[in-house]
Amino acid sequence: MVYLDNNATTPVDPAVAEAMSQFLKDHFGNPSSLYPIGRAVRDRVTEARERIARYIGAQRSEIVFTGSGTESDNAAIFGIVNARPEKNAVVVSAIEHPAVLEAARYLEKKGLDVFYVPVDAAGTVDLDFLRDSLTPRTALVSIMHANNEIGTIQPLEEIVKIAHDKDIPVHTDAVQTFGKMDVDVEKLGVDLLTISAHKVYGPKGVGALFVRKGTVIHPYLHGGHQERGMRAGTENTAGIIGFGEAVRLLEDRGRKDRSRLEKLAETLKKGIESGIPNVRFNGHPERRIKSTLNFAFPGLESEAILLALATKDICVSTGSACSEDSEEASHVLMAIGLKPEIARSCIRISLGRFTTEEDIAVMLRELPEIVAKFRSISSFSADD
Ligand code: PLP
Repeated sequence: MVYLDNNATTPVDPAVAEAMSQFLKDHFGNPSSLYPIGRAVRDRVTEARERIARYIGAQRSEIVFTGSGTESDNAAIFGIVNARPEKNAVVVSAIEHPAVLEAARYLEKKGLDVFYVPVDAAGTVDLDFLRDSLTPRTALVSIMHANNEIGTIQPLEEIVKIAHDKDIPVHTDAVQTFGKMDVDVEKLGVDLLTISAHKVYGPKGVGALFVRKGTVIHPYLHGGHQERGMRAGTENTAGIIGFGEAVRLLEDRGRKDRSRLEKLAETLKKGIESGIPNVRFNGHPERRIKSTLNFAFPGLESEAILLALATKDICVSTGSACSEDSEEASHVLMAIGLKPEIARSCIRISLGRFTTEEDIAVMLRELPEIVAKFRSISSFSADD
């Protein structure tokens, strides 16, 4: 199998699986219990928390473990809005992941004003629009670090400066940058930041939210005192251990992986652009996550390409995994100005740690053939 959908999820690294399996065999204690088997688990959870915190330049008390990136996004948005009842507006970008966008839409239905900051053709947010949309009523700005479909990286430092000048906290969804570029909460200056384990060769069902010390936020789940009262419920201890191990591997080999992947992605990008007529690359030419490639194949349907690749055992995606079964064109591709029929002709190819040169060679052999075959049987002409 050629797996080129690493933005949807990544294979669990064997070292992560081993650490989790060993932990599950050796430890069943509840980390809240005071006797030794509980304490032992708590120590392991603390170790993972410390490692993850260090990796993003945070303190361990600033990390809240959650059940997913989606939960972290929701916890940040509702947590801040609930803590600032005198405010009644939030600002998000038009290309957020549904985990942010749908939370914002829910608030809109509840009567809050939501401002959706548009993006340019490369997917970068309009900073003037952002500036103009902030008022004394704004509770929060939530703008993603990099987009999951096209990889464009947002100018977060500038966004934070604009919002902080007006005393407005900033949350960022860093699910697609964590592990793929340096994510440092001090440099970025954000108040809240979301990450998820399964995008970095860790297990599914565990995420974290960075909450800067001093940020006033209400808990999202109520119950026991786990996670310093920020997230009730007995922790997903094995998941957290796996997350910690995944980050240990990032510390170890993350940078090396990254430069190898960037080279492979560049080979693939050049190969597609030179080997297939009339393709359109989507995303920023420079400020983007290089292992994410998104192309339009005008005249074709992305689903047909995806299914044809699947028959060759090649996995890619038509956009975000969450909208895969929706008929609608991607909101991200529409926001960068693509016509719906062009947006529906796009596929996303995302490389990861286990992508090989051979995978890229297979893709560069199969994709041009598939596109040529479909084009020969459709009425499309490359001059259209
Ligand atoms: N945010 C972004 C940018 C994502 O790409 C994803 C996953 O696709 C999520 C949030 C959701 O993360 P999770 O699958 O852990 O809920």
